[in-house]
Amino acid sequence: MYQLVIRGGRIIDGSGAPWYYGDVAVAGGRIASLGRLGCTQADKVIDAGGQVICPGIIDIHSHSDAALTTFPQASSKIRQGVTTEVVGQCGASAAPVDEISQLESGEAGHWPTMGHYLDALRHQGVAVNVAALVGHGSIRRAVMKNEDRKPSPAELAGMVSQVAEAMQQGAWGMSTGLIYAPSMYAHTPELIALATECARHGGIYFTHLRNEAAGLLQSLDEALEIGRAAQIPVQISHLKVTGEANWGLVRPALARMVEAREQGIDVTADQYPYIASATSLSAVLPGWVREGQREAVMGKLRTQRAQIVSELHQGRDWSRVMVSAVARDEDRRWEGCSIADIAASRSSGPEETVIDLLLDNAMLVGMVGFGMCEADVEYVMAHPLVMIGSDASARSAEAAQGKPHPRNYGTFPRVLGRYSRQQGILTLEEAVRKMTSLPASRMGITDRGLIRPGLMADLVVLDPSTVLDAATFTDPHRYPVGINYVVVNGQVVVDRGAELPVRPGQVLIPH
Ligand SMILES: [Zn+2]
Ligand SMILES: [Zn+2]
Repeated sequence: MYQLVIRGGRIIDGSGAPWYYGDVAVAGGRIASLGRLGCTQADKVIDAGGQVICPGIIDIHSHSDAALTTFPQASSKIRQGVTTEVVGQCGASAAPVDEISQLESGEAGHWPTMGHYLDALRHQGVAVNVAALVGHGSIRRAVMKNEDRKPSPAELAGMVSQVAEAMQQGAWGMSTGLIYAPSMYAHTPELIALATECARHGGIYFTHLRNEAAGLLQSLDEALEIGRAAQIPVQISHLKVTGEANWGLVRPALARMVEAREQGIDVTADQYPYIASATSLSAVLPGWVREGQREAVMGKLRTQRAQIVSELHQGRDWSRVMVSAVARDEDRRWEGCSIADIAASRSSGPEETVIDLLLDNAMLVGMVGFGMCEADVEYVMAHPLVMIGSDASARSAEAAQGKPHPRNYGTFPRVLGRYSRQQGILTLEEAVRKMTSLPASRMGITDRGLIRPGLMADLVVLDPSTVLDAATFTDPHRYPVGINYVVVNGQVVVDRGAELPVRPGQVLIPH
């Protein structure tokens, strides 16, 4: 007797192979049998009615770290068909954190070690499976605070041992966010030293490049140099190029990655399917302003305002920068407005407006920047080295706050519906591969990402004729359509489009 049987689907198995008709039977949380199963007994039977049965989606680039303790149902992800999240990206992980920054940030959701964080997830229970990276920024902050300088030999040794500890406690690799303080203060040799330690433990190097505009290719070269020197697989995070003058640079970037692979560097990339990016508004500030603890940064905004305004006043189109979230209720009305529009209605300059918003909200302002073009998004998406990742965190539309990037709710259905079905940029089978077996093989997750007997039963039933994102930049808290069933480790989490209050997710540990 099976735990679950899904009957009468078109099976897209995640390998990229064309769909075929079949049934999937689940026992003990694993795929037990596959094909035309005929009359079989099961605790639960789902009639797929000719819809697609595919593996659960592995979100190779997730920021759900602390959000998973606030939103353990991970609704915004589960409703897209995501069954595994790879967290700890862009240099920022939930652990480790030093006491000072924990006290200062006043934010819950940081743990002293990777082991503590993973135990917290196990203890609480989550709907999705979780694989964690350790963030270089988190490690550097814990060891060196938020300072723009080279590490002493003792500090470097301290960071190396933090990498080792996180890897021993279950991390899959290390990430950098080289536009963010304090990751941005690290020079290449420091990153090579830490990546070398990470590689010793079988880890992967994920990187948000130092520059995703005119300096894209040089930044990519740095990542490839780290891969070569540390002998570590390299994942380029959210591959893109911003700024109209730089559009098209993704082509030589991908060509360079293909070349690097020919030389033996195992490099791949991920992408989210939008022409806008999202980050904190403070990321537009010059590096010297962002150094130090929060009070020090705000002090510089107050006392060196003229200098900062003049540095900010360098060719940025403020009509393309939208405020996505603020901390202060009085400023909520600006959520969804561009900096240019906010400045105009306050009769202020855009640079002044940026500084005022940051000061008024204790630096907690989110932004969405419209800097990319569709042609680049499509070229990157279709490239064989690229997989799909959301760059977003678990949220709940029932607890909607601000105007976050719609990728939080829409990434994967958007690729399946808009880019595959509507625009034909890639076949449905290839789109599914880029969300399932490709990220699984990148991570070395050998028991998920495909529909094969013996693998864990992470499964999605979706309607290929309707699947589509619904979230937009002005109305982002909307679940997608066409994702009808989601199964995690054999347990149904989404049933006929409705979420069930179960948390069958597991913390995944490298072999
Ligand atoms: Zn990033
Ligand atoms: Zn990210």
